[in-house]
Amino acid sequence: VKRAALLLTCEHATNHVPKEHQRVFGGQEGRAVLGTHRGYDLGAKGIAHGVARKLASNSALLFAGPLDGEVTRLLVDLNRSPRHPRVFSTYSQRLTREERAELMRRYYEPHHRLVRATLKELLKRAKTVLHVGVHSFTPELGGQERNVDVGLLYDPARSSEREFATLLLHGFRSHSDRIRVRRNYPYRGIADGVTTMLRREFPSSRYAGFELELNQGTLESRAFARASVDVLSDVLTEWLGRSDA
Ligand SMILES: [Zn+2]
Repeated sequence: VKRAALLLTCEHATNHVPKEHQRVFGGQEGRAVLGTHRGYDLGAKGIAHGVARKLASNSALLFAGPLDGEVTRLLVDLNRSPRHPRVFSTYSQRLTREERAELMRRYYEPHHRLVRATLKELLKRAKTVLHVGVHSFTPELGGQERNVDVGLLYDPARSSEREFATLLLHGFRSHSDRIRVRRNYPYRGIADGVTTMLRREFPSSRYAGFELELNQGTLESRAFARASVDVLSDVLTEWLGRSDA
């Protein structure tokens, strides 16, 4: 049994809209919004898959994913608890009740089932699972510029999450002192979402929930995207490779 395994997820990987729901995004405004940060996490999927490709080259590491969301969060937001008021956007509010229930059955529930099943599989082979959700945020919201490149989201009350955040923070800072890293920004790690739900279901001795939030403005730089993949995969390799207890 290994000491640690990794689960990678990317809930907001895509802005895909299945045919039967395209009428909700009719008109210029509806089509345009899908291409923005409201439609998906620009750049996040590339980072998650880049990290997985690097980790896959080391057969000693135990990891699974990335498990990607398959539709735009403007239809159903996978990174919310099922009864959260914002699991449905102002666009999906235009759908009928039955259509929204169908979005839950077709997209929300399968993702959440897969995340839990994969987590349980990994826990058969490792003492703890570190879950890393890869996200990105818009550099400007409501006229406010967010002067941070990397946000580390976790529960400060959980020591293994705190420890991983510190390693990652040092990883980014030693890569370049120009990368601005901040803990629990632009959101708090204990806000509603997948990791917060899973913390209630799995004890801290077995599950560490972590989210990486990358600035979409900074991500336009290929150098920063590459640095993010490199730092994350290096720190994860160290975390997963620590001697089996
Ligand atoms: Zn996201």
